[in-house]
Amino acid sequence: MDYDAIIVGAGHNGLVASCYLALRGLKVLVLERRNVVGGAAVTEELWPGYKISRLSYSYSLFSPKIVSDLHLDQVGLEVVSSDTELFVPFEDGRYLIVWSDPHRTVKEISRYSERDAKSYLEFEEYWRRVGAALGELMLSPPLDLTSLLTLSQLTDATKILRHVGELMETSRFLRAFSSHFSQPREAIDVLRTLAFMSVHDFLSEYFESEEVRAAFVPRGLIGTMVGPRTPGSAYVLAHHMMGESTGKSSSWGYLKGGMGALSLALASRASALGVHLMLGAEVQEISVKDGKVSGVRLKDGRFFQSRVVLCNASPKHMVELVGREKVGEEYAKAIDRFKDQGCVLKFNAAISELPDYRALPGKQVGPQHSGITSISPTEDYAERAFDEAKYGRFSKEPVLRVVHHSVHDPSMAPPGHHTVSIFALYFPYHHRWDSMKEEATDAVVDALSIFAPNFRSSIVHQETLTPLDLEREFRLPRGNIFHGEITPDQMFSFRPAPGWSGYRTPVKGLYLCGSGAHPGGGVTGAPGHNAAMIVLKDLGLN
Ligand SMILES: Cc1cc2nc3c(=O)[nH]c(=O)nc-3n(C[C@H](O)[C@H](O)[C@H](O)COP(=O)(O)OP(=O)(O)OC[C@H]3O[C@@H](n4cnc5c(N)ncnc54)[C@H](O)[C@@H]3O)c2cc1C
Repeated sequence: MDYDAIIVGAGHNGLVASCYLALRGLKVLVLERRNVVGGAAVTEELWPGYKISRLSYSYSLFSPKIVSDLHLDQVGLEVVSSDTELFVPFEDGRYLIVWSDPHRTVKEISRYSERDAKSYLEFEEYWRRVGAALGELMLSPPLDLTSLLTLSQLTDATKILRHVGELMETSRFLRAFSSHFSQPREAIDVLRTLAFMSVHDFLSEYFESEEVRAAFVPRGLIGTMVGPRTPGSAYVLAHHMMGESTGKSSSWGYLKGGMGALSLALASRASALGVHLMLGAEVQEISVKDGKVSGVRLKDGRFFQSRVVLCNASPKHMVELVGREKVGEEYAKAIDRFKDQGCVLKFNAAISELPDYRALPGKQVGPQHSGITSISPTEDYAERAFDEAKYGRFSKEPVLRVVHHSVHDPSMAPPGHHTVSIFALYFPYHHRWDSMKEEATDAVVDALSIFAPNFRSSIVHQETLTPLDLEREFRLPRGNIFHGEITPDQMFSFRPAPGWSGYRTPVKGLYLCGSGAHPGGGVTGAPGHNAAMIVLKDLGLN
């Protein structure tokens, strides 16, 4: 046998899994088709002197437990927090800043509504508790609902014991949640909110001011084909409020060196643990013999044997690599149903000066450049942007999230210059993007220029990544940034499909370890960690 474990893909989750397996003495090979590690957590020098976080742009969700287990702070991982969380300019020339200091935010919000200023601390406290519960759920496999239902139909003692065993494996999941909500009614209410509510309805319970709601709404839309009034969008908000990587709950920070610095730290730790890392190595087939995985074949024809294979690529890509007949038609169809339409366009640029906002003028670094600038001045603006995509077009007035990594790490741009990373919604996958890229780019640049008129002329170099580019260059299925939508119908026990939430697949020895598995997308490291734990258990090592 060449290896104990082969991992298809060196996304951050594949790298996390490789480290945990190597820590237990396994001989591990990671195969990555690109010439750089990290998948969607990557920094590349696109133009001389400008280092760009090409896809993911902000650090919040990565598990502090993984940082500590793998001592990532000793291999170059350096988090930069900012005093500013959000800067939201409005069309009438006013603005709202969400500071990382909640008391400063209370004061800021009181300019819009005294009542909302009072609600803000309650809102923070709610997310501190829900975030803590969700944070714990991230690091264990979700409850196995099929075992739960099967159990009630069984009379045979041996079978009952097996199902109880399977339930025990996932019961930490429920315990984590109940430990943060001692009142069962309170816990059920949180479940109701996350499973069924829209981000608009949820925010309306706390805030009467349109401006305050507009500031928080985009976190409920990130990367997902939902609008502010779509049921389930409250979960998308929760998904982006559960992070504590910066040391403060629900806060978003940055990394020295951009998001790729995390992947480089993981790769460095993996190499030190003896993991073999092969770049430019595209897997063409995951091989199966007698119902069990036997290894992988690369595009260049090389074959490597392995006891187990973990797939960091998306669930749909995994089915393609192994073959529908090998996983069985029932599983293949369940994965076909996994919604993965992408709707994100990423615009990266080198700029000669920072945006000079009409609402808060200045080209020197200020709070308006140090957090995420949110271009979505009203909830209706975001709803209209979504409507256009819903009816088959792309948003002419898109929702934007704008970040300047060079503000947090000046080594990312030449002196006096800056980088800008713009995450834009909604740009559905199904357009003829090769001929529409220019028009879409213009919509993004115009949307920011309305608020910062110097933006267009400040651009020195630029790249636009449409959903089609995200699929072609990064293998994100249909450009979906999370390998599959993070709506409640596809989370927890339903990810990637009901009955298959535990990382295992119908092929013995083949596992999912990327964002298509629980707890979904974002730079969390959790799918990689959890899949490694299941593999170790199946190999009798955990
Ligand atoms: C534009 C954008 C912005 C985002 N912003 C944020 C953000 O700010 N913060 C955040 O937390 N999250 C963000 N996300 C989401 C987050 O980046 C992803 O969910 C996460 O990085 C996915 O990690 P992964 O390891 O599961 O998969 P990936 O990063 O997709 O890695 C999978 C790897 O497998 C490789 N691969 C695929 N097929 C093969 C094959 N056949 N052979 C060999 N290798 C293969 C791929 O090349 C890739 O390197 C963003 C994503 C995008 C696209």
